[in-house]
Amino acid sequence: MQAYSAPSAAPEGDARIDLVGLSRDELTAVLAEMGEKPFRTKQLWHWIYHQGETDFLKMTTLATGLRERLAERCIVGRPKVVTEQNSADGTRKWLFGFADGNQVETVHIPEDDRGAVCVSTQVGCTMTCRFCHTGTQMLVRNLTAREIVGQFMAARDSYGEWPTPTDETRHLSNVVLMGMGEPLVNYDAVAKAMKIVMDPEGIAMSKRRVTLSTSGYIPNMRRCAEELGIKLAVSFHAPTDAVREQIMPINRKYPIAELMRAMKEYQEIAGARQYVTIEYILLKDVNDSLADARELVRLFDASGIGVKFNLIPFNPWPGAPYETPSIKSCQAFAEVLTNAGYAAPIRVPRGRDILAACGQLKSASERQRLSRVRAREAAGIADPDHAPAEIS
Ligand code: SAH
Ligand code: SF4
Repeated sequence: MQAYSAPSAAPEGDARIDLVGLSRDELTAVLAEMGEKPFRTKQLWHWIYHQGETDFLKMTTLATGLRERLAERCIVGRPKVVTEQNSADGTRKWLFGFADGNQVETVHIPEDDRGAVCVSTQVGCTMTCRFCHTGTQMLVRNLTAREIVGQFMAARDSYGEWPTPTDETRHLSNVVLMGMGEPLVNYDAVAKAMKIVMDPEGIAMSKRRVTLSTSGYIPNMRRCAEELGIKLAVSFHAPTDAVREQIMPINRKYPIAELMRAMKEYQEIAGARQYVTIEYILLKDVNDSLADARELVRLFDASGIGVKFNLIPFNPWPGAPYETPSIKSCQAFAEVLTNAGYAAPIRVPRGRDILAACGQLKSASERQRLSRVRAREAAGIADPDHAPAEIS
């Protein structure tokens, strides 16, 4: 394993620019200010995103003078690794910290010959789905493109997977935007970050290996299809508005019929070969009956959308108001879908022992903060930083 020495952020009072997360044009502008020609952008990009180099002085294709000036003015940063935990099943989870003290969790889920890095897009989440631990987090802000790309790069540091290997030999072969936060609410930063990750001269992730999971925030779905064309997963979770509304407040604003139209449009733009993954959490006695499964079949048979299901038995977290159905009832539910001709694997939870499975992410800082709040409440003292940040 490779230890890395990148600065986690420019120290306070340090005016150096972190180059990670800048678009090519922005990088060209930084170089232009230093009197450099645009062709330098390509070289620098290659060092940052292909080689994973964080030390300008080692960027040997650049003139020595330029390397020194870059080191004076810029950094190639990473989020700070606050903790790293390894699950018995090989899943690795990091708690990453940013310059303002906020933290997010990122997970690597290894498979035999590949692996997905599950990246967060916000600190917390404003969607407040009732089954999701992240949704209970009060402190919320959007992550920047740098913070989103930085999670993936720091994960690659942790496995020493630099320079960028060929597609076939990568352990960190896929990116799934399924960590903390609703990616389509923070669309601009997510799109900028994914364009960097997919740039063929850097990390070079193909769009087939990037999946965005949304709770159904319709306004940015079309742009995502047009501008990124990445795979779409939708957290569907209930076949009727009545049940979906109860577990996902977003359904009141964007109900099922509109969501179906948006998914259809996504597929029309991204290409019919691009299946939409329908994620379906199984909550005991809430949405797991055979009648629910039959209703899903009816809905999607009539929709003309090419879909695959992904059934996720509820992953419990402390204080959660739901229970996980038995394996048998999950299988019976899956059978209704497979008999109707749909792929419907039941997702085996990964990293449950380190609270890294779907819906279990929540920054440790928040866990600590809440325990402080409770201690203060018990002592009758008001919490000064209780108000959550607004997200438009
Ligand atoms: N905000 C996005 C992506 C992050 S959540 C979204 O909601 O799609 C990733 C997946 O985990 C979603 O399908 C989400 O519904 C699911 N999930 C959330 N809480 C869960 C839990 N406790 N158990 C199992 N899956 C959960
Ligand atoms: Fe947010 Fe997704 Fe969790 Fe819902 S399931 S609260 S959208 S992270």
